[in-house]
Amino acid sequence: MAGESAASFVLTGRIATVSGTADATAVLVRDGRVAEVGDAGVAERARQAGIEVRDAGERLVLPGFVDPHMHLHHLAVGTGRGVDCRVPTVRTIADVQDALRSGLAGVERGDWLIGYGNLFFDQKIAERRHPSRAELDAVSRDVPIALHLGGHATVLNTPALRLAGVERFMSGAAGGWGAPVVELDEAGQPTGLVAEIDPMLPIPPAGDSEVEDYLQATFHDQFTRRGVTAFGEMTESRAAADALDRLITGGRLRAHGSFYVMSPAAMPLAEAAEWAAGYQSTAGPGRLRAAGVKVFADGGYSSRNAASRTPYVRDHSPRPGYRGRLNLAYPALREAVAVTRAAGVQLAVHTNGTRAQDEALAAVRGSGDPAGHPPVRIEHLGNVLGSPDDVSVWREAGVIPVLQPAFLYNFVGDYVPMLLGESAMTGRLALRTILDEGVIPAASSDMGLGGEAEQSNPLFGIWCCLARQGYWGRVLEPEQRISFAEALRLFTLDGARALGLADEIGSLEPGKRADLVVLDRDQRADPDELLKTAVDAVFVDGVEVYRRGPAGMSAGTGAVPA
Ligand SMILES: [Zn+2]
Repeated sequence: MAGESAASFVLTGRIATVSGTADATAVLVRDGRVAEVGDAGVAERARQAGIEVRDAGERLVLPGFVDPHMHLHHLAVGTGRGVDCRVPTVRTIADVQDALRSGLAGVERGDWLIGYGNLFFDQKIAERRHPSRAELDAVSRDVPIALHLGGHATVLNTPALRLAGVERFMSGAAGGWGAPVVELDEAGQPTGLVAEIDPMLPIPPAGDSEVEDYLQATFHDQFTRRGVTAFGEMTESRAAADALDRLITGGRLRAHGSFYVMSPAAMPLAEAAEWAAGYQSTAGPGRLRAAGVKVFADGGYSSRNAASRTPYVRDHSPRPGYRGRLNLAYPALREAVAVTRAAGVQLAVHTNGTRAQDEALAAVRGSGDPAGHPPVRIEHLGNVLGSPDDVSVWREAGVIPVLQPAFLYNFVGDYVPMLLGESAMTGRLALRTILDEGVIPAASSDMGLGGEAEQSNPLFGIWCCLARQGYWGRVLEPEQRISFAEALRLFTLDGARALGLADEIGSLEPGKRADLVVLDRDQRADPDELLKTAVDAVFVDGVEVYRRGPAGMSAGTGAVPA
């Protein structure tokens, strides 16, 4: 990392290489790269050459986790500035009001009061509905209030609605995370619930140093500490990319960063592709690079805005036969493929619902030979599967599905069937089917504001692949279970592939970057052990960037204190 030179050392232990070859017991690190992977002979030769040996004993050593889709800025600034209104911290709407009131005193003149609840808040709160504008007005009629409920849905009070100018979204203005929604009551007045317009809210930005502090603390607590050594950020502005660059350059965030420019939230499509193509970070391309552009073909399930083949059930639809909303259809998605290919950058398409996925896949297949271009990523493809026959279409299109195993717990397991009925009881994170069809997806957290506490933890994501439990404890489609080794690959090498970095990171092979994670045990015999497993140490480019507790890994003697 900046200003530090990585020492040579050998790490011994139970090493899962994710390279397709047998597991190893020693990895030699030199100049920040993996120099050799092997058995006791590697360690012995190194010892004789005077190279330090660090022994992880019976513990499991893995390649650093790669999380190719997150909303770090959204998460960090939202939690840094906002009041936590998540269930189970709050239980009722009155609790939400109390929590927000407690935050009022700290709001400076001209600023907004921000709160954040969970994704699918309306299903987790006692009243089983969203709070209303009137309920937020009861907290303040002067200070604008935004209560974010996951990335898609937000409730605004009256001053916030006025400042946001929500009328423009009722007459054609584009949203940020899908087609915009302004919910109206029977009298035609906004209820306060809006969706897909978070990046367009005129909330005064936090100061640079404040943003950097939030990013540093959030990345450390939610990602580094959990073994994430490379990430793909969904960037909503140039300023957000600049903040990330300053932090990485200063050695305050230690991981390999890639970002995707969200269009149109950050800028129009052509401008975004051009900017990504020419982007050069101060930190250097091995530290921070622009990977491509992200567009939204539809919105979120939590805002009933995912575009599905099948209609939403009557209780969850504004009108009979409602199938969600497409934000970008085939022609616009063809355009997005063409513009990004011309610029030589990658395209990521957000598609929650099966109908949005159909449009995106058709656009890729209709765009000619993909050879020589970065593969198109289809975000959330594989979280819901309309039919097992669909998987061959993904394979033929050559796209990379980027799915979220933790969503099986968060909402796909329980709430997608609630929204879409019986047909959605099968095909939720159908990982066994997908892998057996020869498609290689990547796993990501999609962690953002409103995510559940463990959502950013790759070990939790892996547990979801193995245990397949929903939010209310039910085991969901157990025939779709995959093995630990298969799940580990989704969170390491396949994540690297989604970022276009499979030659650099994601497995422990000679020549690759020495990004390593030491767990506190080898939990492979028992999936439930994953929920108790902690990360003891994390290395990025051969430099230790995290060590758990006062002891952790020791250098020199070969002993590793417990
Ligand atoms: Zn996302």
